[in-house]
Amino acid sequence: MAYIVSRLCIDCVDKGCVEVCPVECIYEPKASEVGDMPNMLFIHPTECISCGACEPECPWGAIFEDRELPPSFEGDVEINARCEQQPSKFQVAHPHRDGEGRLVKAKRPDKALVSANRLKWQQ
Ligand code: SF4
Ligand code: SF4
Repeated sequence: MAYIVSRLCIDCVDKGCVEVCPVECIYEPKASEVGDMPNMLFIHPTECISCGACEPECPWGAIFEDRELPPSFEGDVEINARCEQQPSKFQVAHPHRDGEGRLVKAKRPDKALVSANRLKWQQ
């Protein structure tokens, strides 16, 4: 059992989820690999301890426990698993910080934006 970042994260990647993960198991592709990857974060399926801390932190509702993943996002399980299968292509994601090291939080999207994003990806 693990949590999954769904494609609802694509192009959002504000990294609000990363700060709260107690085991640093949320990954991003290395800069040299982004061309081959969707623009999203990835949860390592065996490092994730299923604590659930990241789920409410995601303003886009992009994170699901695997057993609660909507059927239209089932393919995202395999996408998340890439960080375990191809570890040399990934690095632990770190939250955005300003020049003085302070956490930079993205502006939270309103309900309309969240709904529009869900409609865009939930085909
Ligand atoms: S908070 Fe949500 S949208 Fe932002 S990077 Fe994490 S999973 Fe993606
Ligand atoms: S469920 Fe917990 S351990 Fe798994 S990715 Fe989210 S915060 Fe990290």
